[in-house]
Amino acid sequence: MSFVRFENVSLAYSEDGPLAIQDIDLTVKEGEFISVVGPSGCGKSTLMKLISGLKPPTSGYVYVNGRQVGGPLGIVGMAFQAANLLPWRTTLENVMLPMEIVEPYRSTLREKRGEYEEMARAQLKRVGLAGYEDKFPWELSGGMQQRASICRALIHKPRLLMLDEPFGALDAFTREELWCMLRDLWQQQPFTVILVTHDLREAVFLADTVYVMSKRPGKILVRREIDLPRP
Ligand code: ADP
Ligand code: ADP
Repeated sequence: MSFVRFENVSLAYSEDGPLAIQDIDLTVKEGEFISVVGPSGCGKSTLMKLISGLKPPTSGYVYVNGRQVGGPLGIVGMAFQAANLLPWRTTLENVMLPMEIVEPYRSTLREKRGEYEEMARAQLKRVGLAGYEDKFPWELSGGMQQRASICRALIHKPRLLMLDEPFGALDAFTREELWCMLRDLWQQQPFTVILVTHDLREAVFLADTVYVMSKRPGKILVRREIDLPRP
């Protein structure tokens, strides 16, 4: 059963503009961890926008969980290269943000705030941020901010986690720490992951299946089953 499916998808950002991606077919099974690698400009972010419903395809179909994507989905969590934490909110308040937006949390937040805060604290502990709940983003290191950002992406228990270059701004040491953290989270609480990166090492280390997107010619997604021993 496919969880995410692209059928012959193309997208142009403007009516008579060039195709940002062309004739993409992609199938991701539920619980799978895939990564998409490719050079800058090959269409990786565009792929993410199509899955999250931020952009409709110009032609072809995008399905998530058996339904054609027609707008933002509550079952998706997202994190990007910039942690994008709200500067006027504490770590805990930032992590709580999806609870204010995504159902069924949003409509029950008033009576269940305490319970949801406990969930957020537990998740912060899982990413190594216990004790930092009341700090503001500027009081956290880059790696901590990114931990909080991933925590926020997972707090509403999404079935699909989409990561766009989430470790790109970190030093090599911190990056590898966060790779291990992400693998652990995924193993504890299985969800489907689509990781977009230009770092081939990262793609291979983390994902079960690596897709290579090329800029030219043809913008083809090539599937590579890579089975390397992991530390
Ligand atoms: P990647 O994430 O792999 O760097 P993108 O998906 O951002 O690639 O870009 C794919 C192509 O679409 C590029 O040629 C880029 O210039 C173009 N593109 C991306 N975003 C826009 C936009 N908002 N408007 C017009 N063209 C865009
Ligand atoms: P609360 O936790 O009280 O709901 P929010 O974080 O949602 O607070 O912020 C409330 C409003 O205050 C937001 O809609 C935002 O526009 C504004 N705001 C507060 N601080 C900032 C800031 N540093 N930059 C931009 N907008 C801000």
